[in-house]
Amino acid sequence: MLQEAQLLTRTRGATPAFNCLLAIAASLPVFMFHWVYFAVLLGQPDIALFTRPPVLAALNVIVLMAIVIDIGMVAWLWPRRHRSDPLPRFMVAVALVQAVTYVAMGVVYGPLTSPINTAMISALVVGFALLGRRPTVTGFIVAIVLITANDWLVLGGVVPYAPAVVPATFLHGEPVAWWRHWQDVTFFMAMVLGIFLIVLLFGRLDRQRRKLEELSRTDSLTRLSNRRHFMERLGVERRRRDRYRQAFSVVLCDADHFKRVNDTWGHHAGDAVLRHIGNVLRTGLRIPGDVAARLGGEEFALLLTECREGEARIVCERLRRQLAEHEFRVGSERFHVTMSMGVVECRGGTEVVALKLADLNLYRAKDEGRDRVVVSVQEDGP
Ligand code: GH3
Ligand code: MG
Ligand code: MG
Repeated sequence: MLQEAQLLTRTRGATPAFNCLLAIAASLPVFMFHWVYFAVLLGQPDIALFTRPPVLAALNVIVLMAIVIDIGMVAWLWPRRHRSDPLPRFMVAVALVQAVTYVAMGVVYGPLTSPINTAMISALVVGFALLGRRPTVTGFIVAIVLITANDWLVLGGVVPYAPAVVPATFLHGEPVAWWRHWQDVTFFMAMVLGIFLIVLLFGRLDRQRRKLEELSRTDSLTRLSNRRHFMERLGVERRRRDRYRQAFSVVLCDADHFKRVNDTWGHHAGDAVLRHIGNVLRTGLRIPGDVAARLGGEEFALLLTECREGEARIVCERLRRQLAEHEFRVGSERFHVTMSMGVVECRGGTEVVALKLADLNLYRAKDEGRDRVVVSVQEDGP
């Protein structure tokens, strides 16, 4: 299970550090644009006619602080972007910095009447996708508390609603240029960043889905198919045979005296032997087409498509010999491992009976002295 979990976190670009980088990248350009735009605007001589400069200046100090913190976080995260260490507290910090900055913008421009509320909703989606539940909910709760506190202060007449906006910010009911440009650019920037993140996250989901599918049909020790995938393919092949009358063969293989291998050389050596058997079976078959699977323990199965008794025997003899001739080494010591194989050519009947017959042949191979192949034919029947 651990191996599978590691494989999933190893999906390219999905480490916690990389997710933090993406979450910051979703808002840092918006903050930077904001700072530059209003720094330039505050330098205009007639700016006081259209807004309240001290309010904008104070907001830009908050935005600059967020930019500095975000860049600091990026500098810390970048060298760690490939590591899979969880960063729960760091993620909360990332969420809080972005949330507080968006709230500050929302308060200054009016939470209900500026594009900031749209940005905050996108931030929520981005947060859930990249940082997970806890950091996002924490950031969201802090944002709601701050916005509600501001609403109460506005209702109580303590602070004005949208203090950066004055009547002259609107001309004949339309926003003046500085306000409109800022809204437009923020909106389009958020849209481009949003689309980029959606494409990236869907690509990532797709890669994870394919990896999960592969894991669900693979044996983690040998990378061969697992029992479930073997049974699926066997059923498909049996139905194909019924329709097209193309015989196929099923093989059950079992390592001989494998308990002795474990007892003498240790479990680790036993696992290495199983991996080697996996390689021998995989490389000795026609793939795609044939299937090599580990059913469990030291038992393997082969599905040889469009393969009759004589051909199946040749293939299995070659695999058996290849394993028997291989020299395993543990330190300076050497040993050999053999396997017995039960083969059945399936001309008719069900796959359940085919497996039973292959198992009978395997036991005959064991009885007759192991390291051998026993073959028979399954005719029409149940
Ligand atoms: P036979 O020739 O009759 O098949 O004898 P055998 O010793 O191979 O058969 P037996 O079924 O008695 O023992 C199988 C052994 O395989 C027992 C178990 O310790 C070992 N085994 C099963 N799964 C694994 C595994 O994943 N790794 C390792 N190293 N050993 C395993
Ligand atoms: Mg066995
Ligand atoms: Mg065995």
